Amino acid sequence: MAKIGFIGLGTMGSPMAHVLRDAGFDVIGMDISAEIRAGFDGAVEPSEEAVAQSDVIVTMLPEGKDVAQVHRALVRKAAGSDTLLIDCSTIDVDSARDLATQAAGQGLAMLDAPVSGGPSGAAAGTLSIMVGGSDNAFARAQPVLSAMGSKITHFGGPGMGHAAKASHNMICGITAMAVMEGFALADATGLDLDKFYTLCAGAAAQSWTLENRCPIPGIVADAPASNNFDPGFAVRLMAKDLRLAQAAAASSGQPTPFGAEAAKAFSDFAEISGDRDFSAFYTTLRALPDQKQD
Ligand code: NAD
Repeated sequence: MAKIGFIGLGTMGSPMAHVLRDAGFDVIGMDISAEIRAGFDGAVEPSEEAVAQSDVIVTMLPEGKDVAQVHRALVRKAAGSDTLLIDCSTIDVDSARDLATQAAGQGLAMLDAPVSGGPSGAAAGTLSIMVGGSDNAFARAQPVLSAMGSKITHFGGPGMGHAAKASHNMICGITAMAVMEGFALADATGLDLDKFYTLCAGAAAQSWTLENRCPIPGIVADAPASNNFDPGFAVRLMAKDLRLAQAAAASSGQPTPFGAEAAKAFSDFAEISGDRDFSAFYTTLRALPDQKQD
């Protein structure tokens, strides 16, 4: 089994690295935070020595600038020429393409492989993984990707994994706004919201967001709205993904006006309530039913 250097052992990286270990890979966990390293058996500070020992380097870092810094300062310096680089972080399409070009300049194969499915999907090894990069690199990565995910799609060359993720998440963000505004209007016009939910769930307004993020407490028992808007998927992450979609829209020249509205609305809300589930945005549109003064 290949030796995997896994850099970034946070909310997502730790369960992903554990799943790789459970699948039989020899995983060297690396993180800059001592506190995070303490939670992962045998984890070390990121080092050239650990990178040089690895056949595959997986990165799961917060932002594009973090991946660029780790690749520049460490990975491209120390990786052997056969090392495969897989970046699972959510970053922008253009940065992913730049990183792949720089890696190729040193003869290193790189895949962008952003994921969807959250910490529970990471722990279960059932992430959706959207992949960009060469056919050859994708074939080499199969054992690693199929340990971490259950729905793996190769969308094309470098950056195409991020193009898919940004476009998909923009649909989710806009749909979330539509569901929340629909419920606000239904409430304002005096509709029974339980009956309205049942109508939507069985009609053309049905969506994943409706069924998993209905913003009215008590209608969907395990939705964040019924659980104090604990995430779920935090507002700050939704805002980040929608900003990345806007970056892709700008660089490809495609106007996405509803995506832009959703990006701005969630980014503004993230300033005040970033750690709540994104469906908490409903409270900026209308008071929750049990908070109303009758
Ligand atoms: P996180 O902040 O919990 O973890 C990031 C880890 O990277 C931290 O442990 C941090 O110490 C470490 N780190 C930062 N800079 C480093 C460096 N230079 N060298 C080594 N380690 C470094 O973030 P997360 O929630 O695990 O998300 C990681 C990525 O996955 C992000 O791009 C995020 O957008 C994406 N993502 C997150 C979720 C989610 O539900 N949390 C879902 C899908 C995708």
